[in-house]
Amino acid sequence: MAVERTLSIIKPDGVAKNLIGDINRRFESSGLSIIATRMMQLDAREAERFYEVHKERPFYRDLVRYMTSGPVLVQVLEGDDAIALNRDIMGATNPADAAPGTIRADHAESIEQNVVHGSDAADTARREVAFFFDEKQIFSRPAQATRHDDR
Ligand code: GDP
Repeated sequence: MAVERTLSIIKPDGVAKNLIGDINRRFESSGLSIIATRMMQLDAREAERFYEVHKERPFYRDLVRYMTSGPVLVQVLEGDDAIALNRDIMGATNPADAAPGTIRADHAESIEQNVVHGSDAADTARREVAFFFDEKQIFSRPAQATRHDDR
């Protein structure tokens, strides 16, 4: 397993529902480290560019409206197999299909208002991390850092 970085966003509904602590605890207790963090309000141009791959989809305008409806917490997660591990912790896009115990099964309202974003592959992770962060804003965990559960 390779150490990877992935982009996580706690979306406006997750921030509004006071879920930052719950979500970050899930990441850390699964072995992921939060190595960059930024709270911000996306404007329409940023949300449009971030979700450019979806611009032909019927839900694109609604998605941009949702993602600009309040502050988000944008973070870089690092760990073994971080991209797939974060997707497992999040659960399926549609909460009706999300495995029990995942963030989306526990907290998402709908296929749109689904609390979290996570990069889906190595190339998108690289693009998405660079979309929000300069390298000097990212702080890799020291090699000797222990998992939360091991302490
Ligand atoms: P993800 O990688 O699991 O986030 O899913 P996608 O990349 O397919 O979609 C991006 C985001 O668009 C999702 O997380 C949802 O917020 C939203 N979305 C996806 N599918 C739908 C849909 O069918 N309807 C609506 N309204 N929103 C959707």
